[in-house]
Order: sequence, then structure tokens, then C-alpha cells
Amino acid sequence: MKKHKPADSIQDIQYFGEYGGVNPSIADSSTFTYMAGKTMEEVFGGEREGCYLYSRHMNPSTGYLAEAISNMENTEAAQVAASGMGAITSVLLQICGAGDHIVSSRTIYGGTYAFMKNFLPKLNISTSFVKTTNLEAIEDAINPATRLIYCETMSNPLLEIADIKAISEIANRHNLKLVVDNTFTPLIFSPKEMGADVVVHSLTKFINGASDTVGGIICAEAEFIHQLIDVNDGASMLLGPTMDALRANSILKNLRTLHIRMTQHSKNAYYLAVKFQELGLNVFYPGLSNHPQHKLMKTSMNEEFGFGGMLMIDTGDMEKAYKLMEAMQNNNIGYLAVSLGFYKTLFSAPGASTSSEIPEDEQEKMGLSEGMVRMSVGLDNDIERTFQKIKACMKETGVL
Ligand SMILES: *Cc1c(COP(=O)(O)O)cnc(C)c1O
Repeated sequence: MKKHKPADSIQDIQYFGEYGGVNPSIADSSTFTYMAGKTMEEVFGGEREGCYLYSRHMNPSTGYLAEAISNMENTEAAQVAASGMGAITSVLLQICGAGDHIVSSRTIYGGTYAFMKNFLPKLNISTSFVKTTNLEAIEDAINPATRLIYCETMSNPLLEIADIKAISEIANRHNLKLVVDNTFTPLIFSPKEMGADVVVHSLTKFINGASDTVGGIICAEAEFIHQLIDVNDGASMLLGPTMDALRANSILKNLRTLHIRMTQHSKNAYYLAVKFQELGLNVFYPGLSNHPQHKLMKTSMNEEFGFGGMLMIDTGDMEKAYKLMEAMQNNNIGYLAVSLGFYKTLFSAPGASTSSEIPEDEQEKMGLSEGMVRMSVGLDNDIERTFQKIKACMKETGVL
């Protein structure tokens, strides 16, 4: 089988805009005209496809973005959403109804965790949170009401790597859908190629890479995408997490440099991870040979893009973590801010921010400690210079 080349499949799309533009024209319209009343009736009745009707359903500009990212993930189709959470919640509510059950990784994005833990029970949908690196625990959590298995390829914030191939075998055996959040590792992992049924992304992070907007996407088989935008019972259509055409167009333009950015983020993160480890720090980075899933990642990733731009260090206590982050911001190394994928380094303490939805005792069970600092390493041209500046901050704040 020919191996899928995710960056090439973005590069190879050819655009001819309305006036021969090299970028597609922006469809700045919420609604679309019909020449005959009958045609509109047929579209609403689902008897006719391929017509634009209303932009919450489909818009040419969100369609171009969906096409490019579904090419990247090698899925038949995709549906853009206004945010990563808009994408994730639509998928979960499309697949699950009252009485259903989800098996989810316990190390997931805080918002996703909160949705499953606090919101879905209101609809009588329950979730078992398991350690997805333990395949037996996944299998044990499945019951007759289970509809899907949910995980992140590289988990937030502990940077654990899921064995998508093995998990998809479990999903297949029990006739469940495997939903994978690939936000931390676009291009690096191709979850659908490894057996995922649905791949979601927060476009807010690496894919857009400019920290100027939120966005999301759902990549899957055409049949599932059609279900999501069904005018009668589609979660995307009826919940309405719609992205605007202007924004979709700007994200599409940023997507085209994703392969260059991911390679540089990975190169810089690897450099810092090695240097931090040499300083004797406790470093979490899947590119290091002491990372528990280093071998798994090496054998399942698209190697040319590296081990990703995320790394985490444990400073030992919260006060030190805060002091270090403040010193790094004061020395213009980056920003004390949540989110990831920016050209500058972003750092936050996950326990008190992006994972704060997860109760403290659960955080401890997961291996999260309060002194941890998560970094989304930037595109710095001279990473040795950055390392020296961080090292000085570490000395100043007693981390070293
Ligand atoms: C940020 C993030 C989300 C949520 O995306 P939004 O665009 O903020 O709604 C989901 N999953 C992961 C892994 C994320 O990092």
C-alpha cells in the first residue's frame, strides 16, 4: 500500500479562484439563491446534493478548508467547526444518545474531560476514564452500552502516546467508533491510517498557528459527515458551531506552511528537551529515549516532522513553576499563556490552568504534579540563544 504523505496532499491541491485567483474566492454569503422553487424543495428533502443552501449547512470557503485538512488526514470528507470543542461535542452528540456510554482516555484536554464528566450525564450519557496506555483497562471498561472510544494521539498535558492501531483493533472487535483528537500532532500522526474512524482537531493550535482565532474540524467518512450536517438530525447543523467564511479562508492560507512550522517546532523542542535533561531536570518529551512511549512513537509517526513542539518539565513545586514562567516572560522568551502552536513559546502550569477541570486527586493519579510547566516551543531561529536565556531564568528562580 502506498504510504499517505500528508504534507504533499495539502501542497497538491490546485486552486483557480472565481477570477483565476491562485487562492479560492471567499464566499462571503450566509445564504444562496435558487433559480427554481422546486430545486430548493429537493435540497431540503435530501433528494439533491451538492447545492449550497445556507452557510450553517455548507459554505464554499469552509468547504475548501475541509477539503485540504481531509486530504491531510486522508479521510473521505470533513466538516469545519467554530472551535475544537464545537467539533468534539458535535461528534460525541452525533454518536451517543441517552443511555449510551463512552470509554475515554483520562489524560485528555480539560474541556473535553469536563464535557464528558459534567455535561453529558445531564443527557444520561456516561463515561469511563481509563489509562489508554493500558489496553486491558480499555477492554475491561467496555460494556453493552458503549458506543465509542475516545483518545488523543499525544495526550494533553502529559504527552503520552496512544497506540491507535491496537486501540482500533479493540474498537473493531466491539463494533465501536474510535474518535481521536490529533491537535498536538498534525502531520506527525495520521490516525485514520492507523485505524481511527473520526479524527478531530482544534485548528486554534498548530494548524492555524497564529493565535488569532479559534476553530475546529471533524475528519471522517463521507457518510458520517453527511449525518453531521443533516438538516433533520445532524449535530453540526442543529447545534450550529459554524465557522465564518473569512476565517476559514485565513486558516487555509496558514495551513500551507504547517509542514515547515511543525518541523521547526519539533526541532526546537527536541533541542531544549535534550539540553534540559543534561541539566538534570525532569523532562517529559516523547523524542527522548526515556519517554515510556518513545519506541511506539518512533515506529508509528510520519518521521520527517519530528516528535512535536510540546514539552513539559517538572520544577518540583508550584511557586517555582510560577516564578520561572514569570521570569521567562519578563526576559521575552515567550508568553505565560495557555494554547499552543504560536511562533513564540507559550508556557503554562497545566494543573492550575488547562487541566484545572480535572480534580486534584485525579490529577495526582494521572501523574500530574503542581510544579509542572508545559511549553509549546516556538519557531525561534536561534534555539541555543533561547536555551541560554531559559537557563539563566532557571538559575535566577532556583529551578536549577
Ligand atoms: C485546545 C484544545 C481543544 C479545544 O479546542 P478549542 O479550539 O479551544 O475549542 C481540544 N483538544 C485539545 C488537545 C486542545 O489542545
